[in-house]
Parts: sequence; C-alpha cells; structure tokens
Amino acid sequence: MNPTITTTHRDLIEKKLSCVELIQQHLKRIDEVDEKIHAVLSRLDKRALEQAKAVDAKIARGEDIGPLEGIPFTVKDMFLIAGTKTTAGSQILKDFVAPYTATAIEKLESAGAICIAKVNQDEFGHGSSTEHSSFGPTYNPRQLDSVPGGSSGGSAAAVVAQIGLFSIGTDTGGSVRQPAAYSGVVGLKPTYGLVSRYGVISMVSSFDTVGVLANTVVDTRSVMAVMAGQDRHDATTISAQPIQADADAPKKVGIVREYMQGLDPEVAEQYEKAYESLRQSGWTVEEVSLPNLNQALPTYYILTPSEISSNLERYDGVRYGSASTQSTDLLSGYTLTRGEFFGDEAQSRILAGTYALSAGYYDAYYKKAMQVRTLVIQDFAAAFADYDVLVGPTAPSPAFVVGAHSDDPTEMYLIDIMTVSANLAGIPAISVPIDGPVSLPLGLQFLAPQKHESQLLVAAAMAEEALDTHLSEVVV
Ligand code: GLN
Repeated sequence: MNPTITTTHRDLIEKKLSCVELIQQHLKRIDEVDEKIHAVLSRLDKRALEQAKAVDAKIARGEDIGPLEGIPFTVKDMFLIAGTKTTAGSQILKDFVAPYTATAIEKLESAGAICIAKVNQDEFGHGSSTEHSSFGPTYNPRQLDSVPGGSSGGSAAAVVAQIGLFSIGTDTGGSVRQPAAYSGVVGLKPTYGLVSRYGVISMVSSFDTVGVLANTVVDTRSVMAVMAGQDRHDATTISAQPIQADADAPKKVGIVREYMQGLDPEVAEQYEKAYESLRQSGWTVEEVSLPNLNQALPTYYILTPSEISSNLERYDGVRYGSASTQSTDLLSGYTLTRGEFFGDEAQSRILAGTYALSAGYYDAYYKKAMQVRTLVIQDFAAAFADYDVLVGPTAPSPAFVVGAHSDDPTEMYLIDIMTVSANLAGIPAISVPIDGPVSLPLGLQFLAPQKHESQLLVAAAMAEEALDTHLSEVVV
C-alpha cells in the first residue's frame, strides 16, 4: 500500500521525517521512474523546496499543521500556476507561461499542500489514453506496455508511481475517473460548478470539472473539501454544504443496467463479485434502467466538439501561444498557426464542432443533442428518486496496450461510454479500484445526485472497505 496523505501527515507531526526530506523523496521518484513512465512535463523543485522549508519552520516553532500542509502533489498541465509553464499538452502552448494561478491550486497552496510537478495529458483533454499528448504518451506504472488512461493520465500514473500523494485533474467526459480506473487509484469528479475553473484551460465549458486522483477515498475527500466553494472569478460556481465525513450511508444502490450491457464475460464477472460484496455488507443492490444513457455517447460527441471549436478559437497565433513564422498576412497566420501547432485530434474536433454548429445543421445536431441531454438528466432524476446512489463500471475494460486504438478514433471514443453521462447531467461520480480479470485493475463507479459529494464519498469509502482489492504491484 502506498503511503497516504493521512499516514504522511502523521509522519510529519511525529517528526519521523522533515517536510524538506519528504519533498526530496518525491522529487527523487521523478529522477528514478519518469524516464520509464513519462508522467511529468515540468518540475517545480525550487518552489516546492522553499515551501517545504516554511512548513519545517512552522513545525520547529511547535505550531500545528493542517492535514494537507507539506503534502506533495502534482497537477495536470491544464492548470495555471503563476510563472510556470502551462501547455495543456499542446504544441500551441509549448512556451506559454501562466500569468496567474488557478483558484483550485491557490486554495490547495493556502492549505499548505506543495505542488512538485505539472503532469502529462491528452492535448486540451481530448482523449482517453494520454497518447494524444503532443509531448508523447505516458505509460501505466503497473504494466509499462499499457496506457494509464486519459486525459489525466499523467496524474494517475504519478499517484501510482508515488510522485506526489495526490493529483489534480479535469473531468469533462471521464478524464479523472477513467485514468483512475486504468491505473488503480481513486478518482472523483464533483458536481458541475462545485470547484472553480478560474485559471483552468477550457475544453468544454458546460461540462468541465476539476477532480482529484488519490490513493484512498479518505485522501480524496480531504483534497476535494479544500478545493470546493464559490469563487467570484467563476460565475458557474455553486453554493453547497461543506463536504462532511459523517454523511448518511446509502441504503439503496441501483446497478445501471445500460452500463452492464456488452461487457466481456470475464469483466462482467468481476463487477458481479463486487456487487455481491456490497450486498454482503448489508446494502440493497438491485438493477435499474436509465434507457436514455444509450444515447449519452453520441450526444457527448456532438455537444463537446461544438464547444471545443468555440473554446479553441482563441489560439490564433496573435494573442498568445505559438505562431507560425511562415505567414504572409492575417488569414494565413491563423491557418498556418492552427494547422502547424494543433494535433490531429484537436483539429478533427474543431472541424466536427464547426460543422454541428453551422447554419442548416444546427437543428439536426446541436439542438437535438441538447434535447437528449435533458432526457439523460431526467433519467438520473427518476433513478435517484428510488436509489441513494447508482453503481456500475467506470470503463468497459481494463487498460489497453499503447497503440491498440490508434487507427480508429471511434474505438477510443467508445471507452467513454460509462463516464460521459455524469458530465451531461452535471452530477458527481467517483471511481474506486477493484481487481480486474488478469493483472490490471478495473474501476467501480458510483454516481450521486448533484451536491451529494458527502454521501457519494461515504458510499465509496464503505465499498473500498467491503471490496477486498489486491492491486498488482507497481513495476517502476
Ligand atoms: N475521453 C473524453 C474525450 O476525449 C473525455 C475527456 C475529458 O474528460 N477531458 O472527450
């Protein structure tokens, strides 16, 4: 078992190690393993060690330290940290230095957590494997020929490889939960609007959320509790009760029938075993149908490229980011810059989104997809009238070998079939590791109504306890 935030906090207050030693340990992991897994895009050694010295000084003065104080973490390169490089995994931002810090990171740093590195991701969050990073893929620390998932794959790989004790990612269609499932860590996507996105590079503004990847549910809760809350810089943030550890335990759990359809029998068997252990712990666990979830994936892949095409307009080679040196006038500057510096997947989404939003096609695609989005929201509302939480797989199968889906984008999109509906509905969801059929793990996903993070986390913690999971060793 990896050390956790809880155990490390204890070590710090019992002076088993200093904060500087702790940070040095985690930076040394980067030296030792990152050549093999390529999770890290940039290191923040100097800044991190200075922050660690301040924590040690506080401990030396006999002052109390908070639960996250001195705890090392990593962050997806989608988050701005003033004075540091922020690329979103894209060549178009390869030299971009952030002018200010994202609210989520500022809150963690105010609580004393120490960011040690910015980590790899699919370009602008477009992908499910981290193979779409324009800086090269990340590899799964449990099996180096396989992907760690994506788009927050660098975050998942870092947590598994003990580079930081938690990582911050973004989840627009599963990018926190799915890499958590592929890599064998916990991944939480909160209610839409619970965490500020000020200073987070936009992918799909009506879907994007800030999430946590960590070793345990308790660690995940401590981090989310710090980041949650309204922010005057982000008008989409909502007011919600603080996250509580002692929320009511769920009694009735609905297995989403649509998520269990079409699974390989060996995979389905692992989930059936998990549901059985939940029943053994006294929960009522029964099947429930949400018929419109079958439409969630095509709906997601109409709505998200539409917003992507509009959000990526700002990378024009004029205001910021890379610019082509070959341009002769303004228009050729736009086309050459965007052609040269956006990867294939980003270009393909810009084209698909521009098409779906264009006059004559808007009603047939974008408007219809918005109507289906409402049906998905209604299905969840109906299910939550009968069940405290819903459960199902996070993804249809365990992590795949690097390159396995490179020739067919649709195969890559199909991996998101069980994660996108939570983003369509704006509800919170969490992935907890369970054993896979062979060596790589699977994720068990719980979903709850909006603003029910506390209940969701209690359910996930109970499941973590009930499921006797034996994850394979990390090979780096
Ligand atoms: N895999 C999904 C996509 O490619 C989800 C991305 C995300 O959540 N950032 O759109």
